[in-house]
Amino acid sequence: METEISQMEMPLSLSAREEIESEIPQQIWQQGSKMKGHLLMGRVATKRRVNYKAMVGTLTAAFNSVKKVEFRKLEEDRFVVVFDHARDQDRVREQCPWNFDNQLVVMSKMHELDNPMEVSLDWVEFHIQILDLPINLFNRDMAKFLGNKLGIFIEVDLPKERRTWGAILQIRVCINITKPLQRVIKLRSPSGDLFSVWVTYERLPLFCFLCGIIGHSEGFCELRYKEIFEEPETLPFGMFLRAPTIRRSIDRVEGCRVHQEGDRWKEIGKRC
Ligand SMILES: [Zn+2]
Repeated sequence: METEISQMEMPLSLSAREEIESEIPQQIWQQGSKMKGHLLMGRVATKRRVNYKAMVGTLTAAFNSVKKVEFRKLEEDRFVVVFDHARDQDRVREQCPWNFDNQLVVMSKMHELDNPMEVSLDWVEFHIQILDLPINLFNRDMAKFLGNKLGIFIEVDLPKERRTWGAILQIRVCINITKPLQRVIKLRSPSGDLFSVWVTYERLPLFCFLCGIIGHSEGFCELRYKEIFEEPETLPFGMFLRAPTIRRSIDRVEGCRVHQEGDRWKEIGKRC
């Protein structure tokens, strides 16, 4: 078997007995597989204590799955959601981000052989609205260019009819939630003209108006606990980052979703 399932570092040299690979009988393997289902690994992105029971009740109702769905609690505030059917799993993933009690619930697809404690829970898909983009740049390539400036571009909702200046470009982007929310993208045309576009986020949960990171409010920001901290006159982040939810007909761009599958998350993590 080529896939390596290692829980710990291997010693440098193994004895002859340790080198022997023991193949798991098919019958035993299938028993294990029956228990797995379609899995999402999750955690609530907060350092505060979470009422797990209430969260399970809220999310189970919100998922509205057609087939059975079950939550299993793990260590370090992680949990696994086991779906009986892949359709329910896909729908829940596509409807990210999920919130509980105004806190972001991060959920990533995991495969049955993944180590649950190693599945990355730092990346979440958001619908992002780009404001003040010149109408001549409303195209798929520009959407992808901007999306990849913010994180990992997933898809774009391009208007079918011609729009006026000041219209909103809607993109789906996977962002790293351990970093401050990006508010603006500065751009320069090939002829040297400088301009900026503004970034707003739909269904944005609790985030800090001081450091711009999701998961806490400015009253609990770690920046305040640094030896040298000066209260800014104006908080650098604010409600202006929240975008109203827009009905959309997403124009999917093939091949982008592969970035989220399994181990690719680790590769994405290295990029940032
Ligand atoms: Zn903060």
